[in-house]
Amino acid sequence: MDASTYTHDFWRTKAGSLEFRTQHFIDGAYVGSVDGRTFPTINPATGETIADVARGGEAEIDRAVIAARKAFKSGVWSRMDPRGRMAVLEKFSGLIASNAEEFAILDSLDMGKPVMDMINIDIPGSVMSLKFFSETIDKIEGAVTATTASALHYILRQPLGVVGLIVPWNYPLMMAAWKLGPALATGNSVVLKPAEQSPLSANLLAELFIEAGGPPGVLNVVHGLGEEAGKALALHNDVDKIGFTGSTEVGKLLMIYSGQSNMKRVSTECGGKTPQIILGDFDDLDTAVTYAVNGIYGNQGEVCNAGSRILVDRSIHDDFVERFAARTKQSFVLGDPLDPSTTIGPLVTASHQKRVLSYIDIGRQEGASLRFGGGTLASAPSGAYVEPTLFTGVNNNMRIAREEIFGPVATIIPVDGAEDAIAIANDSIYGLAASIWTRDISKAHTFARDIEAGVVWVNCFDHGDMTSIWGGYKQTGNGRDKCLEALSQYTQTKSVWVNLG
Ligand code: NAD
Repeated sequence: MDASTYTHDFWRTKAGSLEFRTQHFIDGAYVGSVDGRTFPTINPATGETIADVARGGEAEIDRAVIAARKAFKSGVWSRMDPRGRMAVLEKFSGLIASNAEEFAILDSLDMGKPVMDMINIDIPGSVMSLKFFSETIDKIEGAVTATTASALHYILRQPLGVVGLIVPWNYPLMMAAWKLGPALATGNSVVLKPAEQSPLSANLLAELFIEAGGPPGVLNVVHGLGEEAGKALALHNDVDKIGFTGSTEVGKLLMIYSGQSNMKRVSTECGGKTPQIILGDFDDLDTAVTYAVNGIYGNQGEVCNAGSRILVDRSIHDDFVERFAARTKQSFVLGDPLDPSTTIGPLVTASHQKRVLSYIDIGRQEGASLRFGGGTLASAPSGAYVEPTLFTGVNNNMRIAREEIFGPVATIIPVDGAEDAIAIANDSIYGLAASIWTRDISKAHTFARDIEAGVVWVNCFDHGDMTSIWGGYKQTGNGRDKCLEALSQYTQTKSVWVNLG
């Protein structure tokens, strides 16, 4: 659709006419919770309840796992002709695209993201994930090994079985799509547990899978709180793997739950404290500033790879700070997420707003200098807004430089050259992403080699496509999304030795 159609009125009218799907989706049908319990999902722009959603626990998880196992064992998906499975996933990705407006509203209402970010970022990213992984299905290969003449030895690559996917609220649709792509492409059955802050889009996703020709029971959705539905899924003895994106704290719990139950595989994509390094030799400061600003304030700073530690060479520090302030003012307008001119919406919940504001207090107490921001949005007192905020005079020992704030709070740390910058950048428990801006090719490659991060950008930030891996070093976790490597996380290998003698 022509972008000019997307007016504030267009989105408000469409949002007003939506009906929400609020139950669990199990074995191809909607079901409530056994005990009828629900939880509210709240619009963070207004503080109003959008809908009451079924609150699942052990019983609902068990029901979904049984349906998923039955579908898996039947072979209806796991042994479907590869090109048949491809056709379903390809159609599924197309249906996400043709339902873009509804998805955009659902996630925007639920977690406060500007609706146009959904149209421009989340939907294309989700469509591409399903499309990319659909294209891999008939290219997944085992191997025949060179061995003794009296035997034939081959290696089969097979699906795991029932996979539990536990996803966060910051990109509700896209995080689900990143995981569903490889999990479904490899023939597994899935139980998806969306975040309780953003449950609304997952059911539409599951419905569209059926519309695309996906068999019932292959993609199930159970809603509920992390410590109830999420925990029950992670402790379930008939779940073969948990694919997780979320906080490091919960990622660690999932590994414990695995040990306490059936040693299911656990892949984790967790937190970050991404450094953006700008060296003194870089001659296009305005471009670096634009990327730095977008890198921390995009999606309200609620991004795993938010470039929250900006390490700037002392020789250009003051100039950089001035330009950074000016660019932020130009680029980021707080407002109603359904207004297409809004570029920064409310944070996901009032309690998260409180947490982010408390970090701003911590920054002040630690002696950093608050250059701008730090407030809320006076015209929307019930909304969970936090202004884009910048601290300068930060050192890497401060809590605002070490802990993941997950909001629009940038810290600028002065550095003395590349070596100093790399040492500071690596002084973190996290290792998701990192960027460097320099014209010095040796410094760029040395940085790429020595930085402890899974994703590295040189003279850009947040660039990539489906062939680039997504995952981190250290306590960001062991998972790898996107890319072909993701396929190996949803399959297992089997050695078959045939005696020819
Ligand atoms: P979270 O860890 O609080 O929740 C994530 C999911 O885990 C939710 O579905 C939640 O219900 C569930 N959960 C919570 N407690 C659980 C428990 N005890 N057992 C099982 N499941 C449980 O994270 P969040 O606040 O939703 O998301 C923000 C975090 O996600 C940040 O740390 C961010 O860095 C991370 N994240 C990482 C990536 C990445 O690719 N590395 C991408 C997006 C977000």
